[in-house]
Amino acid sequence: MTSGLSIAVDGPAAAGKSTVARLLAERLGYRYVDTGAMYRALTLKALECGVAPDDPPALEALARSTVIAVEAGLRTVMDGRDVSEAIRSPEVSRAVSLVAMAPGVRRRMVEAQRSLAAGGGVVMEGRDIGTVVLPLADRKFFLTASSRERAARRHRELQDRGYRVDLAALEAEMALRDRLDSEREADPLTPAGDAVQVDTTGKGIEQVVGELLDLCRPGDGRR
Ligand code: C5P
Repeated sequence: MTSGLSIAVDGPAAAGKSTVARLLAERLGYRYVDTGAMYRALTLKALECGVAPDDPPALEALARSTVIAVEAGLRTVMDGRDVSEAIRSPEVSRAVSLVAMAPGVRRRMVEAQRSLAAGGGVVMEGRDIGTVVLPLADRKFFLTASSRERAARRHRELQDRGYRVDLAALEAEMALRDRLDSEREADPLTPAGDAVQVDTTGKGIEQVVGELLDLCRPGDGRR
């Protein structure tokens, strides 16, 4: 009996990772883990506690005293409170890449993420899954899309959640977040050498999920 594959899905903001990874997990009967939600939950706590998002020692201490659970990929619970909606606010989005730079924070998150992935049968989504968290993942996907399309997708998502944001400002903010994520010293956003890169620009969700599912069939593995 096999326990299932470990699948890493990485890429920049709003490249379609969450929807694709969630559906992929659903179709395969695997667990889905959204690691961005974990960094977002800690960021929310920092904002609420008045800890500056550019104070690594204070953030590391905060990470040590915070319990974050991502439940079935649908709910994020921080210290017993459901923060699934609150972590998607523009304030959290603006600060999260600074919080995620702190090496001590990353160490704790990576450790927690590895135990969530233990045993396989998991689709884990983030920025450094194929490179750092699960370097031996059975499948690695790196999703991209044009910056215009990514901003338009995130804009629609925020509008659906009731936030009013300017599209051009959002595109600039996402470009800054991607730059911070790609240029940081600890675990930067970069495709793993053995990742399959998938450009989702102009493609529907089902098409992308289908492409990834095909690559997850037995015999299509790279390792
Ligand atoms: O995936 P999402 O956009 O919700 O992630 C929010 C932020 O969390 C990213 O921009 C990045 O700064 C950080 N992150 C990270 N490593 C991960 C997942 C997310 O640094 N594995």
